[in-house]
Amino acid sequence: MDLISILRKLVSFDVFGGESNIQLVHWIKDYMKEQGVEAHLLYDSSKEKALLHCRIGPAVDGGVVLSGHMDVVPVEGQDWDTDPFVLTEKNGKLFGRGSCDMKGFLACCMSLIPEMLQADLKKPIYFAFSYDEEIGCRAGDLIAQTLNEFYPEQIAYAIIGEPTLMLPTIGQKGICFYKTEVNGSQGHSSRILQEVSAVHESMHLINWLEQKMLQLSVSSVDDRFEPPHTSIHVGKIQGGIATNIIADQCSFEWDVRTIPTDDLAQLMDTFKQYCAQRMEELRSRFSDFQIRTIEAHPPVPALDTSSDSGVLKLLRAIGINGEEQAVSYAAEAGQFARNGFDSIICGPGSIEQAHRANEFIEIEQLNHGQQMIRNLIYVFGDR
Ligand SMILES: [Zn+2]
Repeated sequence: MDLISILRKLVSFDVFGGESNIQLVHWIKDYMKEQGVEAHLLYDSSKEKALLHCRIGPAVDGGVVLSGHMDVVPVEGQDWDTDPFVLTEKNGKLFGRGSCDMKGFLACCMSLIPEMLQADLKKPIYFAFSYDEEIGCRAGDLIAQTLNEFYPEQIAYAIIGEPTLMLPTIGQKGICFYKTEVNGSQGHSSRILQEVSAVHESMHLINWLEQKMLQLSVSSVDDRFEPPHTSIHVGKIQGGIATNIIADQCSFEWDVRTIPTDDLAQLMDTFKQYCAQRMEELRSRFSDFQIRTIEAHPPVPALDTSSDSGVLKLLRAIGINGEEQAVSYAAEAGQFARNGFDSIICGPGSIEQAHRANEFIEIEQLNHGQQMIRNLIYVFGDR
């Protein structure tokens, strides 16, 4: 199968973050087996999901992992012109959910298996395909740890092929999603100074979070990112019953996107101290007053690869010429870095076309992605 036929097949599996990927991962494993490569699966406890990894080339130190996620974001409520799960070509563009983020890169990797096998590689190339990336990079640490444990040799580099228009991306913000629940007391709205309104208290907490971000935007700046500081945003708030009833329940959902030099744990400690102080003050009015904050998923670490890292030199050697950049979206690269891999993000397509209706990838970008890997084979091979 050629590159586009592989992508067409991958896109036809509508595997969303959080859902079973068994059919998709088995198809990939079987396809690779036909090509002569034995891929390994690691199932989760439900047996509904599996990671896939393999090595092509010798078991020696210094190889490179090509990594991507198999899941995609939903299409619900989006106005698509074509069937999102039927890859459709128009004017040099391939439309379909996941075409850009990031089955295009997976197809680039898979299309070159024959060339990898023929090249008599002196250093190994690994594939590492994950799941549940789109709901908080949930398998990022697991796949990096699995590679470290499974292969006795030391793997040096990881290239995460998220869409960057083939620009070498050495920085990524960290991210975490939270939900804060406030438990106040009910009553007639005229008693607002005697009761504790969960809505009013949520307002204080949200205001605190916004003020915190404004402080950080001055005190802690990294110009590689847009915006160049840690951002805090409340995206959803729910609470209250009626205008004249004091709300006893209110909750809000928010995210923090940290630049590499800001410490998320420290920021959360300060927030929790403020919450503790509010609870102490307001329990004199209502003894059951409670503020509780939970993580929607474990924090995803930032990526901060240096400009003179080996992996950037490797990318330069395989034809990636664009200026290095940093991105504000989350990816698994920070988790690979945390597990000892010299990591970088570089892949075909633009993040601007991801996660929206009529997602597409330009065929030219796909070819560029394939060429990068072909150059890697050349550099690692004996030609
Ligand atoms: Zn992605």
